Amino acid sequence: MVIIMEKGTSESLIERIIEKLDKDGFDIHRSTGVDHTILGVIGNTSRLDVRDLQLMQGVADAYRITAPYKLVSREFKSHDTTFKIKDVEFGGSETVVMAGPCSIESKEQITRIAEKVAKSGAKVLRGGAFKPRTSPYSFQGLGEEGLQYMREAADKFNLVMITEVMDKEQIALVEEYTDIIQVGARNMQNFTFIRALGKSKKPIFLKRGIAATIEEWLMSAEYILSGGNQNVIFCERGIRTFETYTRNTMDISAIPIVQKLSHLPVFADPSHGTGIRNKVIPMARAAVAAGAHGLMVEVHDQPDKAVSDGAQSLYPDQFEELMNQIRVIANVIGRKVAESK
Ligand code: PEP
Ligand code: MN
Repeated sequence: MVIIMEKGTSESLIERIIEKLDKDGFDIHRSTGVDHTILGVIGNTSRLDVRDLQLMQGVADAYRITAPYKLVSREFKSHDTTFKIKDVEFGGSETVVMAGPCSIESKEQITRIAEKVAKSGAKVLRGGAFKPRTSPYSFQGLGEEGLQYMREAADKFNLVMITEVMDKEQIALVEEYTDIIQVGARNMQNFTFIRALGKSKKPIFLKRGIAATIEEWLMSAEYILSGGNQNVIFCERGIRTFETYTRNTMDISAIPIVQKLSHLPVFADPSHGTGIRNKVIPMARAAVAAGAHGLMVEVHDQPDKAVSDGAQSLYPDQFEELMNQIRVIANVIGRKVAESK
């Protein structure tokens, strides 16, 4: 349920409504806009009579949100959510590019790659210190040591940092280092974990589950927003279908669909989306043309030696080419991509 207060309603009237709903056992999410204060009522709202609410003093309108996800929906908030980390805006008119290796392998490796991607216009450094591997015998990540190397590299080249957290126990540690927390595809429906991320102060990059429908993905974001963390970025990274040529089937249509259903930023990951190096640039172009707010791309300067995902990692020169191409495409739809340095 959404309650829109009349323009200029007094604080005491707003407080009175909040108190009443709180006493009745509802959670209230308040957003104070320039003109209107909007109250999102969360809980079993079938007990509420919309007409009673509409008639309350100071209320301009009240209506039910029909979607099963509430805070995430456009019905709850019609304008795009934007937020800034350092000087980088997410969800705005700049198509933000996150780039870096799949795994942090050494201080030298992450520093070299950070320098290259920053030069080409990436604003965010990606890299995994805790890796979700299909095999327990594969490289599992450098852990905290990796986080330290990555933080230093990000700071050295003025990049925002994103890295994956795999479980609840790692949240506090990773939060000390990173700017954005990545939730991997395999964890999208780990509900106790994503509920805990609702209490984090860091933005959450929520990858789409390997077999998740769009609605399930939006519901996972609802867990995070309803816990109090309003800064979630969706990332389409390909889903499993009957097609085996590519590692996953990248669902480009999910980008405009989620942008229509939700006010939150939507990114795309053509690296995991295809699993094939020479398919990454075309799918990056497609995602930008579809209106993605940003991309996540795996880049490695020695992909043959990479401990994970070398086959889908772009060489730095190819990444430079990707950036040059998406600049032109973004321009056509009134968006922009940072220049190379
Ligand atoms: C990754 O970003 O390296 C990763 C493991 O992604 P996903 O969770 O989408 O597979
Ligand atoms: Mn990877």
